[in-house]
Amino acid sequence: MMTTHDLDMTVTVARLLFQERRLAYAVTNDDARVVQIGGAVELFNSRGSEGVGASIYDLTPELIGSEHDLAEIRAGRLPRLELSWLNRDAGNDNTFYLNLINLPYHDAEGRICGVVHLMEDSTMKGELGQRLVQQRNEMRLLRDQLLQQNQRLASVNAELKRADEMKSMFVSIAAHELRSPLASVSGYLEMLLEGMFGAVSAKQEEALHVVEQSVGRLLSITSNLLDATRLEAGRVELVLVPIHLPELLRAVVAELTPQIEAKEQRLQISVAPDLPPVLCDRTRMAQVLQNLLSNACKYTNRQGEIMVEAALAAEPGFVQITVRDNGIGIAEGDQERLFSRFFRGEGAYLSGEAGAGLGLHIARALTDLHGGRIWVESEVERGSAFFVTLPIADVESL
Ligand code: ADP
Repeated sequence: MMTTHDLDMTVTVARLLFQERRLAYAVTNDDARVVQIGGAVELFNSRGSEGVGASIYDLTPELIGSEHDLAEIRAGRLPRLELSWLNRDAGNDNTFYLNLINLPYHDAEGRICGVVHLMEDSTMKGELGQRLVQQRNEMRLLRDQLLQQNQRLASVNAELKRADEMKSMFVSIAAHELRSPLASVSGYLEMLLEGMFGAVSAKQEEALHVVEQSVGRLLSITSNLLDATRLEAGRVELVLVPIHLPELLRAVVAELTPQIEAKEQRLQISVAPDLPPVLCDRTRMAQVLQNLLSNACKYTNRQGEIMVEAALAAEPGFVQITVRDNGIGIAEGDQERLFSRFFRGEGAYLSGEAGAGLGLHIARALTDLHGGRIWVESEVERGSAFFVTLPIADVESL
């Protein structure tokens, strides 16, 4: 049973609740006349006690038109009637919003003897709701924009990929088509130089050698272009066999000796004793080392020094080959970029040496394919050292 004290407390708390939450209530009788009113009564267009006896339709004009529903509540056939977003002018261009809930009012015996009208200020909720809806709409818009952007990106990507494939195909066809006429030019040159078409004067021979050199350069550019496109498309397969480095290094050096001698450079080879064989594709590794040695010769002055070394690498299971020179060196900012395609350092242009900037790009791709590493250390005007590591061949398991 509720004591008087309990009742007092409930009334106090209810009052606080009405103020805090901006709630008001009115109880009406069968004639829709107010018999009791309380809480934040201004929500009902009322100043309090003078509301008693007034028609609920005067206090809340929005209920006009709901007479039938209110009668249904009184008759116990409708459990509730809710009207949302009633608005009131709060002055200063402000509007506040109200929620009105109409419920049956029961007497002590539990009989319906009127209607309770609960009015609630829902302005805050309304603003929050509006903001939420607005943010949800903005999010939806952003998501749609993002989706569209993604679609556009995907199609641009596909186009780029197609263009890249077309470019690779074009380069590869062009290089391929250039090779046959170049091979024929080179064959005829050889025959001319051998005197098969009659005697060749010293002056003519000199000119023919210049042509021969240019043809050689063109052939190397075309084969580099073909290699680069093949490597990029993953169409290069290695034939890995155990190789003894001293023998491979000798062959590479022999190939480049004329070029090195022409610049009167000094070349030293140093191979650590008992170096184990490495696992590599002989032709492809020769190509990598030839490129390094040819660069050392190209980018080192006359009478410069070149060193080729092979020894166990710091990394266990690997052998390291070093090609060192005391040439023009490479600026620090350029060092990593040397390995990207078509990149040539400033020094290369100043040196006047020919090249397409593909050699190191190919060398890195080939070394990677071997499971090894290639890198450079260099100082401008002091020289450069290129390092290549290759896995030691585990001969017993082969
Ligand atoms: P290319 O020699 O045809 O230009 P590479 O890819 O072989 O192309 O080399 C790229 C660039 O790296 C060269 O243009 C040059 O600037 C630089 N480079 C390579 N090796 C050396 C070296 N030993 N000394 C100085 N610069 C070098």
